[in-house]
Amino acid sequence: MSKEHFLEVTGLKKYFDADRPSIFSREARYVHAVDGVDFTLRRSEVIALVGESGCGKSTLALLLMGLEEPTAGTVSFEGRDITHLNDNERKDVRRKIQMVFQDPYESLNPTQTIEEIINEPLVVHGIGSSRSERDERVKKAMEDSGLKPAEVYLKRFPHELSGGQRQRVVIAAALVLEPEILLADEPVSMLDVSIRAEIINLLAELRITRQIAVIFITHDLGSVGFFADRVAVMYLGRIVEVGTMLEVLEKPQHPYTKALLSVIPVPNLRLRHERIILQGETPNPIDVPTGCRFHPRCPVAIAACKVSDPPFVSFGRTHQAACLLLVK
Ligand code: SF4
Repeated sequence: MSKEHFLEVTGLKKYFDADRPSIFSREARYVHAVDGVDFTLRRSEVIALVGESGCGKSTLALLLMGLEEPTAGTVSFEGRDITHLNDNERKDVRRKIQMVFQDPYESLNPTQTIEEIINEPLVVHGIGSSRSERDERVKKAMEDSGLKPAEVYLKRFPHELSGGQRQRVVIAAALVLEPEILLADEPVSMLDVSIRAEIINLLAELRITRQIAVIFITHDLGSVGFFADRVAVMYLGRIVEVGTMLEVLEKPQHPYTKALLSVIPVPNLRLRHERIILQGETPNPIDVPTGCRFHPRCPVAIAACKVSDPPFVSFGRTHQAACLLLVK
């Protein structure tokens, strides 16, 4: 692993058992939720993981958190293989990789005060030698998350806060452990449009002030515009394109990325793309299409796409180049 990549994911797969087609069938079937994902993350880098719902991005997040056991592949963090850890070993990694869930209404215990919610991870991880040290950490995490002054919110309950404030509490409960990576799974999709920018601004601020890397999972390519360093586009369990934010937004290579971008309302004419409406539904992840898995919906597919998958191995390599290899 190169020094600058402190998280490296290689060939990661997660297949779930699926129902057999009939009670007489002996054929084992699997849902290919994550199907060979490779990517790296640098310190304090923001990578946006973008794709339609059902493309496997949330399962990927659970694999990175160790909440699902991979079928194959490896995850390395700070040079250490963390793919299969026992509960004790996992605890240390969990402190460093924290998750921000989508729904701030569901992820907060309604019977606890904000102070208790944010203090709890410190107790679980045995951090802080005294009550006053933990109190200081709780207040700092709250104020860094925009809940200022902390004293105003400490004794309140989640139902007394707005949706945006609750999501700040969720972020504070992650920050209190001083993580190195925040894994944010659709962190703004349940919030009012007016609040979304505030939360994205907060995450952008934290990566600078706290040097935190962020994996920002979203179905909305339009929401990552100014915030992400790199964008990885997922389709049916695989990453199909990775590039810097500008590369992907200005010169998308994969037909799927082009289609996603084409339907985003963009005021800047330079970034506006011809509207592409994909035909059909995302295929069933149990019956993944042969060849390039995007071929049933791809507007520029050729016959060879039904039998061969274009290689996509390194960052910066264009999809077009990969497709040309396929055509040869
Ligand atoms: Fe489309 Fe073929 Fe490229 Fe797949 S390999 S995205 S089907 S052109």
